[in-house]
Amino acid sequence: MLQIKDLSKSFDQNEVLKHISLTIPAHQVVAVIGPSGSGKSTFLRCLNGLETISGGSVTVNNHLLQATDSKKVRQKTIHAIRQDTGMVFQQFNLYPHKTVIENVMEALVVVKKQSKEQAKKMASALLKRVGLQEKEDAYPSRLSGGQQQRVAIARALAMEPKIMLFDEPTSALDPELVGEVLQVMKELAEEGMTMVIVTHEMKFARDVADRILFMADGQIVEDAEPKVFFTHPSTERAQKFLEKVN
Ligand code: ADP
Ligand code: MG
Repeated sequence: MLQIKDLSKSFDQNEVLKHISLTIPAHQVVAVIGPSGSGKSTFLRCLNGLETISGGSVTVNNHLLQATDSKKVRQKTIHAIRQDTGMVFQQFNLYPHKTVIENVMEALVVVKKQSKEQAKKMASALLKRVGLQEKEDAYPSRLSGGQQQRVAIARALAMEPKIMLFDEPTSALDPELVGEVLQVMKELAEEGMTMVIVTHEMKFARDVADRILFMADGQIVEDAEPKVFFTHPSTERAQKFLEKVN
């Protein structure tokens, strides 16, 4: 589903991602953890073209994006990759002047060119899936952070992505609202969605992920099964990190 070869990313002289190579098969759930500033967000953003890559290549569902591509080719590939990926951020970024269901319908009508009726049906089903069917006509400001994030997940799912990218989806939430968002993500994982999740929720990573990537200084320092990573991290950096977060 995802193939990353020798991926590098620099901001001016600052090399933030250093020659990352990695393959993620379909249906795998990958948790990316690591200290702040290690390049986790940049890594995710390179996967769907939110950042241009400086070296190497990224292939998402057979769409090959290379650092050497011309601008024209790159734009075309990124467009194709975006169709196949859904992304959920720490900040939910819902449209404040649209209702919950209108937020979810938006891409269906604008990008997928569905009729309003069709889009409404699908959006309604998605909202039911994230447990918010009774909030369809509410405005985002009337919802809790956890509810808003679940709308953001439903909105991302509306594009029927092949892969879902999450960048600290629960970091902006009050502690008591974290669980409801993680529960929706867990259900997605159980349904077989391919997922890459940057998270500080270690229990969730241990319980739900198939694989842990530990990043430090722009490199993937450890790549292991959760059971192995959390009980026997093989590097001192990971040991220190786990001591701090536990
Ligand atoms: P993380 O998500 O692990 O906290 P980031 O990917 O956000 O790390 O950042 C990695 C490094 O890249 C940091 O040193 C950060 O300052 C730098 N960086 C991120 N985005 C930009 C940008 N748009 N311009 C310049 N530097 C950036
Ligand atoms: Mg980040």
